[in-house]
Amino acid sequence: MSNLRFEAIIESQKRVPLLIEEKGRRSELFAANVFNEEKMLQYLTKDALGSVKGAIVSGSKIERKIADQVAEAMKGWAIGKGATHYTHWFQPLTGSTAEKHDAFFDLLPDGKALEKFGGGQLVQQEPDASSFPHGGIRNTFEARGYTAWDPTSPAFIYGTTLCIPTIFVAYTGEALDNKAPLLRALHAVDNAATAVAKYFDKNVSKVNATLGWEQEYFLIDKSLAMSRPDIVMTGRTLIGQTAAKGQQLDDHYFGVIPSRVLSFMRHLEVECTQLGIPVKTRHNEVAPNQFELAPIFEEANLAVDHNLLLMDVMDKVAKKHNMKVLFHEKPFAGINGSGKHNNWSLATDTGVNLLSPGSTPMKNLQFLTFFVNTIKAVDSYEELLRSSIASASNDHRLGANEAPPAIFSIFIGKQLSSVLDELEGVSKGKLSPEEKTELKLNVVGKIPEIMLDNTDRNRTSPFAFTGNKFEMRGVGSKTNCAKPMTVLNTIVAKQLRDFKIEVDSLIDNKNLKKDEAIFNVLREYIKTSKRIRFDGDGYSQEWEKEAKKRKLSNNKSTPDAIQVLTSKESLELFDSMNVMSGVEVKARQEIELDSYIMHLQIEGRVLNEMVYGYVIPAAIEYQNILIANVGGLKEIYGAGYKKMCESQLAIIEGVTEHIAALKAKTDAMVNERKKANVIADSNKKAYAYCDKVRPYFEGIRYHCDKLERLVSDKLWPLTKYRELLFVK
Ligand code: ADP
Ligand code: MG
Repeated sequence: MSNLRFEAIIESQKRVPLLIEEKGRRSELFAANVFNEEKMLQYLTKDALGSVKGAIVSGSKIERKIADQVAEAMKGWAIGKGATHYTHWFQPLTGSTAEKHDAFFDLLPDGKALEKFGGGQLVQQEPDASSFPHGGIRNTFEARGYTAWDPTSPAFIYGTTLCIPTIFVAYTGEALDNKAPLLRALHAVDNAATAVAKYFDKNVSKVNATLGWEQEYFLIDKSLAMSRPDIVMTGRTLIGQTAAKGQQLDDHYFGVIPSRVLSFMRHLEVECTQLGIPVKTRHNEVAPNQFELAPIFEEANLAVDHNLLLMDVMDKVAKKHNMKVLFHEKPFAGINGSGKHNNWSLATDTGVNLLSPGSTPMKNLQFLTFFVNTIKAVDSYEELLRSSIASASNDHRLGANEAPPAIFSIFIGKQLSSVLDELEGVSKGKLSPEEKTELKLNVVGKIPEIMLDNTDRNRTSPFAFTGNKFEMRGVGSKTNCAKPMTVLNTIVAKQLRDFKIEVDSLIDNKNLKKDEAIFNVLREYIKTSKRIRFDGDGYSQEWEKEAKKRKLSNNKSTPDAIQVLTSKESLELFDSMNVMSGVEVKARQEIELDSYIMHLQIEGRVLNEMVYGYVIPAAIEYQNILIANVGGLKEIYGAGYKKMCESQLAIIEGVTEHIAALKAKTDAMVNERKKANVIADSNKKAYAYCDKVRPYFEGIRYHCDKLERLVSDKLWPLTKYRELLFVK
């Protein structure tokens, strides 16, 4: 009975929760390992501090002399805390983070110590970047790239390394990462939103996009995870019969957190706290062994960095607890997948959340302005927004088990819908004093500060207004939030810029008062963006039909979803908002296609290996036992054996049929894979994988799962769903 599956189960049963000591009060530990403003106050001169803060707030340049000072201070602080190395920490287009460690000191041949960390090393570094994906940028332009310090995200110590958040760009200036376009998008939305916010408050001089992500994940025992080739290689189960008990009982969602998991969570929270990641809530999710962690929201660039750092920390902490975190969007068929809701809003430097209704009609007009402009932006660019969350793994999740569908729509709830309906009736041009009073008192003035139906509990809305922020729910659990945040902030920036031009033109040319002009423009936006609003069930077939009538995109696969990236409108948008050049956008599309191909290629290979290496041999072994049994009975009972062996023979035949079908489908899949592999054009190749290779996966899985049911449990070599999901 010795196979890896049983050894893994025995191993997993021996685990005991690790005891996690809290090193102090969380509030005292918070950001202990972050070189934030508080540390800068201690370590920097006033001039240097002012210069860094200027760079953070207004993007001003930091002089080399000052950079030297900052580097010296950072080094002193970091070494004092036990750091030995430093690294430029960046987000290559692979989706995770990368780093290249250098020691602070080197020894000269004569034994003298040489200091290696100065302003030069802080500001810029040349990583050995030849192996990061670049979608052709570096082939066409320049063979090298460099990383450059992002002072808006503070440096931190992780382990014994000082990590400096950086952007990664080619020498020709093209961004080779996810952070640079995000920073440009945040800059664009700051400019556009500040200009509009000034209609309401002249004191506003900066608007920050805010992001609060909610990270969902599965946690399973490490030995059990390691016993499955598919989990090891692809992060998900490619085959596996669903467990007798799934998530129907909902007992996990309301249940207590298992003690091993709790210990992992405490450990993780201690690490996060020191790294300045403001984690706040933790709870079980709907599926067994699924959990969620959410921080307090932050400025979007910092929130993105914190999410990436968190995923890395989770991986490392889980190892210490003999567990594995699955970030895949759909690790198990038949139960909920994992997402990463992106809660988004805009906040002024005067402390106002622009998407929060207020206590006066004027505050509410401001709220409505940003609210309606966001709706209009999403309506204009729904397909582009959809493209920002496309990936091979998220394709499995969208539209299944509570996840939002691939069609983008916006939920705003009854109360706000009726406000928008009223605003649609506002007169064209100048408003009579009566109408103005009516609007102020009974429409705008009546928006409650707290919305009753502000959460869309059915969770199928991809973009829901939840009281004082929008929640983008289609984002995958593995996704780098920088991608959706870049698109969302770019489209809102563009929309606000257009809005400002229209309002100013009504004021200047039509002699309208400011609020009249705003009402006039909003009225038109409400009328023209109606198709994107939908409060119903996103799963229903009626909605799919209705969405088609409304000409909303419904791109179910990644290749379909990312075509729009290089449409004329998209290229114009990114270019006009100074977020990405055509070359940068095309490079990203190319990388997304390649990544899609690689994912399916690996899944196809692993599936082939599992079918031939595990499933068919186990089926044959079991079949042989039955055959021996039938042969034995025949020997003993002669002609009478047939009646006695009916069941065995039926199983033997069933197994035979499944093996035959499995072999035929697997071979056909491999054949399609071979054909796809010789296609040179990435787009065609991605479609070949999508339309020719991928469709076999389901059929192969079907026969594997049938065999899992037929074959003796003792002989089944692959750890089963019930063991992966219910063994604590
Ligand atoms: P829930 O959705 O579970 O009811 P909350 O409404 O508190 O919980 O928020 C969920 C997430 O939204 C949290 O991560 C929180 O930080 C984030 N969030 C709250 N307000 C904002 C905001 N103004 N901007 C961005 N994110 C926000
Ligand atoms: Mg949520």
